[in-house]
Amino acid sequence: MSIAEQIPHLEALSNLDERIRQLDEDLGVRRGGLDSLKTEVAELRRKVDDGKVSIATMEKTRNELQTEARQMTVQIEKSREKLGRSRNERESMAAQRELEELKKLVRDREDEVEKLGAVCEQAKASVNAAETRHNELSAELAGTAEGALQTVQDLEKQREQLIIERAATVKLLPPILYRRYEAIRARKPKAIARTSDGTCSGCNISLPPMMFQKMQRSDEFEQCPQCKRILYYVPKSS
Ligand SMILES: [Zn+2]
Repeated sequence: MSIAEQIPHLEALSNLDERIRQLDEDLGVRRGGLDSLKTEVAELRRKVDDGKVSIATMEKTRNELQTEARQMTVQIEKSREKLGRSRNERESMAAQRELEELKKLVRDREDEVEKLGAVCEQAKASVNAAETRHNELSAELAGTAEGALQTVQDLEKQREQLIIERAATVKLLPPILYRRYEAIRARKPKAIARTSDGTCSGCNISLPPMMFQKMQRSDEFEQCPQCKRILYYVPKSS
C-alpha cells in the first residue's frame, strides 16, 4: 500500500482521535460539574446539621447557667437576711463577704449567659444562611441533574460510535504505522503532520532542505526532527 493510500486513513484516524479527545474533555467537565454541585449540597447539609447540634448544646449550657444564677439570687436574699440579723462586727463582716462573693458568682454567670447568647445568635444566622443556600442548590441540582444526565448519556453514545469507527479505520492501516502513531500519541494529542512547502504543519519548523527534497521524491513517511510527528508530503494543490 503506497503512502498516498495510507494518508487518508491516517488523517481519518487522527480526526477521530481529536473528536474523541474533545468528547472526553466535555464529558469530564459535565460529570465534574454535577459532582461538585452534589458535593457542595452535601457540605452545606453537614454544616447546617452540625450548626444545629452546636446551637442546642450552647442553649442547654446557657439555660443551666441561668438556673444557677437564679438559685444564687435566692441565696443572696438569705445572705442579706443573715447580714440584717448579725449581732456583732465579726458576723456582719462574714455575712458581707458571703454576699459579695455570691454577687460576683451571679455576675460571672450573667456575663457568660450574655456571651453565649451573642455566639448563639451568630451561629443561628450562619446556619440560616447555609440552609437557604442548601435549599437553593438542592433545587438547582434536582432541575439540572436530569438534563445533565441526558447530555452525558448522549455524549457517551457519540463516543461509542466514534470508537467503532476508529477500530474500523485502524484495520485499514499497516500495524507498524499504527504502532508508531500510538507511540507518538502517548506524548501529544496529534501524532501526524503534513508539509507542502518544507514547513512542518505540526510545529512550523523549516525542515532540512535535503529531507524535504527526499520526501517529494520518495514514497515514505518521515518523522519531523523537532516535534517527532509522523510527517508526510502533500503537494500544494491538494
Ligand atoms: Zn514538526
